[in-house]
Amino acid sequence: MKGKIRALEAISKSLEPNSGERSDVRDKVVQYGEDFLDEIDELKAYVFTENKGSGLLESPINEDPAGIETLLELLLENVDTPGLNPASGGHLGYIPGGGIYYSALGDYLADITNRYAGIFFASPGSVRMENMLVRWMADLVGYPSSASGNLASGGSIANLSAIVAAREAHNIKAKDIEKTVIYLSSQAHHCIDKAIRIAGLHECVQRQIPLDSQFRMIPEDLEKIIQSDKEAGLIPFMVIASAGTTDVGAVDPLEEIGKIARSRELWYHIDAAYGGFFLLTEYGKEIMKGIEMSDSVVMDPHKGLFLPYGLGVVLVKDVHALNKAHQYQANYMQDALESTDEYSPADLSPELTKHFRGLRLWLPLKLHGLKPFRAALEEKLLLARYFYEEIQKIPGFVVGPEPELSVVTYRYIPKKGDADAFNKKLIDAVQRDGRVFISSTLLDGHFTLRLAVLSFRTHLKTIDTLLEVLKIKANEMENL
Ligand SMILES: *Cc1c(COP(=O)(O)O)cnc(C)c1O
Repeated sequence: MKGKIRALEAISKSLEPNSGERSDVRDKVVQYGEDFLDEIDELKAYVFTENKGSGLLESPINEDPAGIETLLELLLENVDTPGLNPASGGHLGYIPGGGIYYSALGDYLADITNRYAGIFFASPGSVRMENMLVRWMADLVGYPSSASGNLASGGSIANLSAIVAAREAHNIKAKDIEKTVIYLSSQAHHCIDKAIRIAGLHECVQRQIPLDSQFRMIPEDLEKIIQSDKEAGLIPFMVIASAGTTDVGAVDPLEEIGKIARSRELWYHIDAAYGGFFLLTEYGKEIMKGIEMSDSVVMDPHKGLFLPYGLGVVLVKDVHALNKAHQYQANYMQDALESTDEYSPADLSPELTKHFRGLRLWLPLKLHGLKPFRAALEEKLLLARYFYEEIQKIPGFVVGPEPELSVVTYRYIPKKGDADAFNKKLIDAVQRDGRVFISSTLLDGHFTLRLAVLSFRTHLKTIDTLLEVLKIKANEMENL
């Protein structure tokens, strides 16, 4: 047996490259990253290719090791070229963010040391770091010390956690679901619908509250609808507002909704996945006044703090609600019981073993300090306003509501023909040009173009490029 074990050991040892092998692969990987970043200003924001990554399939997973050069070539050709380039400042569609460099180094360190960030006993320092970050964000929202939360993989999972916490806090039973009412708006992100379903609440009554001309929930209507639901014997349960809708960047009247939620004893959830970090600016604090009245909030550092994908945060004002939904014990975990003031992430989320996400946030925040984040967010707000003014100077373009945050909606009205078809073609032309990437939506049934400024790499020059591309493409299409 020993002989067999030693033979297997000899083979398995190749999983531990020696220092020379490590530095060879690492240097090439680092160089690849450096080449990418050196070129980032010239790289397109969107690339159409015939090859949609299928070259990867020609190199199947099998017993044979491959060299790093070959693999980086495969990566470049099949993964890092076709489609959207979210690292580009020219990414002005959906909700961008960019991906700041020091987060990559945080991930690198987290992966090398592989600390077990799920449980305090295993890694008290990692858990303290994550809780400290959660605390910082809870303070930003204006929550009291009873609040805590969890670093999740993104806004969708964070919203799910909040909705589950709400369900537990209000003790919603299966037999009551058909009488239980959730209030939201047609502008709620679709991950909310998804989360309601996953949480087993999709058979609740769902009321879409009417919107004003700027796509914000009308509080008076919310109040009236709650009243009539009560009179009908239903159970008003939860209201979900947005602090920055994805479509237009609208911020619901958070304070007024908060007052209604308080007097009607509803759970008040705010999806601030997109807009939340504008709280770092004076303007953001003003427009999101009332956010502290909520019971739960979601924010996405991979949007508003420009992190690479993989970090959303749920904050819950009374952390017991989140804990109640997720706390379990097991015999094989008995050594991990320890009396401490710190909640372990495993007690506040569906995850047990998890990525040590805190480090990818902590490292850049500490290395940069908050000042450049604040400045970048203020810059994005102004860039959106700049675009809003400039696009109206180009004949043919009309705009939607004045931007509340950093999303602008607009469309081109052609001299003749169908405007929806024209705008669809226009967006295709912009994407094919590729220097900048924009996306579209339907507003009141109209095909509408969106500008979303949130990448830390988007600057004045980028917006001027977009204006130029739009002007030239629209002109070409008009004169075809
Ligand atoms: C992006 C976004 C989400 C979803 O978050 P993910 O991080 O993509 O899962 C939810 N709500 C709003 C308002 C968003 O902008």
